[in-house]
Amino acid sequence: MVDVRGVHKSFGALKVLRGVDLTVRAGEVTALLGPSGSGKSTLLRVINHLEKVNRGWISIDGELIGYRRSGDRLYELRERDILRQRTHIGFVFQHFHLFPHLTVLDNVVEAPVAALRRPRKEAVATAERLLARVGLADKAGAYPRQLSGGQQQRVAIARALAIEPKVLLFDEPTSALDPELVGEVLDVIKDLARSGTTMIIVTHEIGFAREVADTVVFLDGGVVVEQGPPGAVLDAPRHERTRAFLSKVL
Ligand code: ATP
Ligand code: MG
Repeated sequence: MVDVRGVHKSFGALKVLRGVDLTVRAGEVTALLGPSGSGKSTLLRVINHLEKVNRGWISIDGELIGYRRSGDRLYELRERDILRQRTHIGFVFQHFHLFPHLTVLDNVVEAPVAALRRPRKEAVATAERLLARVGLADKAGAYPRQLSGGQQQRVAIARALAIEPKVLLFDEPTSALDPELVGEVLDVIKDLARSGTTMIIVTHEIGFAREVADTVVFLDGGVVVEQGPPGAVLDAPRHERTRAFLSKVL
């Protein structure tokens, strides 16, 4: 379970997150919607401690992320401990961020071997299974530049799964793709949802959010304006700001 409590995050004078609360239960999918600049990417990045919060805290399965508590104060963890925590959090970016000099197989094998110290043979077997799962068993020996955007993103998903994360974070996983490649990536994410993978997905694909999400969260002005089941938030939003946003993107 992911818990975000009272999180504030500013960049200089710009207050991006102003007290965000969010709970994502194990096995559930949360779709995060909101206008450009509303702080969606920042929220994913603070969950991963890629950005430090100014106030509030995040925990995953009860473990505080980026900090340890001593009395009523929080102290930042050492880099080593932060990296260890990140091995439990998968991140899939808009622009894939595969290692260009590694084959598809080695992209997926890298983290389990380097960060989790798994034996290479075992990591290769896992990678082959994951590549088959995303429909890319035949591309194991290819390099990222030889793949389409949709295929690269599916490799990125396999790579994120290889560390057996407690939660998978997606930041607009399909918005860099040509329209005809979006479906194959969404199908992989739907398959993960069905198998109970805990996910937080920033997306502008409202139809997809409706289909796959247990909870839709609408972020605007640095706060969660509205959240609930897709049928409520998307079909009967209670807040004017949610309605205005949906009328633009639907
Ligand atoms: P989009 O839909 O366009 O991706 P978003 O909701 O993901 O938007 P963020 O990327 O979280 O928005 O950015 C929120 C605000 O914070 C923006 O105004 C952005 O310019 C600012 N911002 C984000 N990261 C930084 C940073 N490292 N330094 C300064 N400002 C930043
Ligand atoms: Mg963003």
